[in-house]
Amino acid sequence: MELVFLGTSAGKPTSDRNVTSIVLNLMPERKTIWLFDCGEATQHQLMKTDLRLAKLEIIFITHLHGDHLFGLPGILTSRSLMMNMSPVKLIGPKGIKRFVETVTEVSDSILSYPLEIIELEDEGVVFEDATFKVVARKLEHRIVCYGYRIMQKDETMRLNIPKLQADNIPVAYYPLVKNGDVIELADKRLINAKDYLEPPIKGKIVTILGDTLPCDATIALARDADVLVHEATQGADLVEKANMRGHSTTVQAAEIAQKSQVNHLILTHISPRYPLWQSRKLLKEAQAVFAHTDIAKDLAIFPVN
Ligand SMILES: [Zn+2]
Ligand SMILES: [Zn+2]
Repeated sequence: MELVFLGTSAGKPTSDRNVTSIVLNLMPERKTIWLFDCGEATQHQLMKTDLRLAKLEIIFITHLHGDHLFGLPGILTSRSLMMNMSPVKLIGPKGIKRFVETVTEVSDSILSYPLEIIELEDEGVVFEDATFKVVARKLEHRIVCYGYRIMQKDETMRLNIPKLQADNIPVAYYPLVKNGDVIELADKRLINAKDYLEPPIKGKIVTILGDTLPCDATIALARDADVLVHEATQGADLVEKANMRGHSTTVQAAEIAQKSQVNHLILTHISPRYPLWQSRKLLKEAQAVFAHTDIAKDLAIFPVN
């Protein structure tokens, strides 16, 4: 799995940075991609990558500010012009349904694939299947804004095939071994299935936050994550300006990373006041607090490991 930053600017695009959108590329894990926020021109940015709109499975929206939302109609309707599109889930704050329904109705657009819209009323589990679970919590911003904690489930009950073969255990017993039982074989041998299982592989945890002040919810969402994506709208010297507008600074994001003991912090949602060449200065001040920090630029790819 990897994170692909499609847009990294706050509020409005610049010539170097488009507005916010992030892909969690889950092609190896589930043959799909998940999109977090969808600022204007997200579909243009997506075309510059080797990711495919056809593989879109879930869109998570953190909040309804335009720099996180205005690309949604384009993504949804362009996808509609392609053949045999799979269903899409759209998860976001209350109001997202009215936004999509209004845009499609006014523009006389019809979606050719099923779109399931899930409006978040509360905090908690917003998605779960056999391999992934996503939890949302409310952050502190000027309007209702969510952060998402994406948890890949641990991979357990993996068969140790070489050992099974070495002990001449017939393939027909493998499903029983996966259950972890004590098994009596046809030749009367008694085996303990646990002796033939590999140790579990721990699932990854990725936390992607919307716009926010530093708050307890961000720490809870980010606790022990492999990667935390945190906004850093302003540099450390503009802390009052940032916080007044419901945003964080580079250093505040780094403090959250440190408190929640994440492995890797990635900063995004950078104010248009900072040209790209100033990224290094912003990065340095965050790294002084939390060393394993990166600052995203458009189309940057970070593996989750
Ligand atoms: Zn924003
Ligand atoms: Zn915002």
